[in-house]
Amino acid sequence: MRVLITGGAGFLGSHLCEALVGEGHEVVCMDNFVTGRPENIAHLLGHERFTLIKYNVCDYLHVDGTLDAVMHFASPASPQDYLELPIATLKVGAIGTHKALGLAKGKRARFFLASTSEVYGDPLVNPQDESYWGNVNPLSPRGVYDEAKRFGEAITMAYHRFHGLDTRIARIFNTFGPRMRVNDGRVVSNFIVQALKKKPLTVYGDGSQTRSFCYVDDLVRGIVSLLTTPSDSKAMDPQYLADVRFGRREGDSGNIHYPVNLGNPRETTVLEIAKLVLRITNSPSGIQYQPLPVDDPKVRRPDITRAKRVIRWEPSVDLEAGLEKATEYFRKII
Ligand code: UDP
Repeated sequence: MRVLITGGAGFLGSHLCEALVGEGHEVVCMDNFVTGRPENIAHLLGHERFTLIKYNVCDYLHVDGTLDAVMHFASPASPQDYLELPIATLKVGAIGTHKALGLAKGKRARFFLASTSEVYGDPLVNPQDESYWGNVNPLSPRGVYDEAKRFGEAITMAYHRFHGLDTRIARIFNTFGPRMRVNDGRVVSNFIVQALKKKPLTVYGDGSQTRSFCYVDDLVRGIVSLLTTPSDSKAMDPQYLADVRFGRREGDSGNIHYPVNLGNPRETTVLEIAKLVLRITNSPSGIQYQPLPVDDPKVRRPDITRAKRVIRWEPSVDLEAGLEKATEYFRKII
């Protein structure tokens, strides 16, 4: 396949570029380096199956040659980033998704949207499965990311039903691993860097809020499975799509075009993560409690029944092993 990855120099995007090039595909990486970094893809430059285009996906999009897939991964993705870049976050999720969909349609390519567990907001059910509509405050500071991604899902489904575009949507839960930015503000990178620098670990609130952390290699394997799982002909049938679009029948939410949760179902509290990081890094740091950010979700855990069924995927790296690998990475760069 020849695949365009927007946000290809970001944390997830760069791992995805590497995985697809490694599997023999040709990758066109597009990034405007707002939160992506040249060093994430430096080792791929010069590879015959890798091209880099420095570009903002919100501008008119043109890519030479054929494309078999367009994967839209561009977006600020840590709460700190999207609070600093609220309008860019809304634009890349809305306008950027629209442009990337248009390009996929023009090239008759498969489209893949990197969506998020944030579409569930501060969930009132735990774990979250894909049928849950979420509990999002559109006016809150973090609503910019949640609503941008919710719009992204809506327009992706509309392109699927209206244009018959072959689409995939992954709802990505908390992921960690090498190439997270030292200062990106997310909990795992913050804690490891703080522990290695012998500074106090900043636990927001009382640390009882939960998250479920997936190691990046597991996640990328899930993304590639979802991308490469074929669509069934019934799901792409024009009459079926028209019937669903006009509300004459329910869509079959079991088919591959509906969102799929990707994440590790092991749920831990933030305080547990802090203690685990202290143990793994053997750090003398203590814990410093800080105020909980507005609308910080209290719980988050993926139900991955659907991923197991439709793409035969589940994570295999355990949290401790993943944290050790991430620690090795941060030790080298700080
Ligand atoms: N958090 C924390 N200390 C930090 C950074 C984050 O306690 O230094 C908490 C944050 O309030 C949230 C959880 O860790 O409850 C995960 O935050 P993150 O920014 O990684 O991503 P989120 O899951 O909120 O999108």
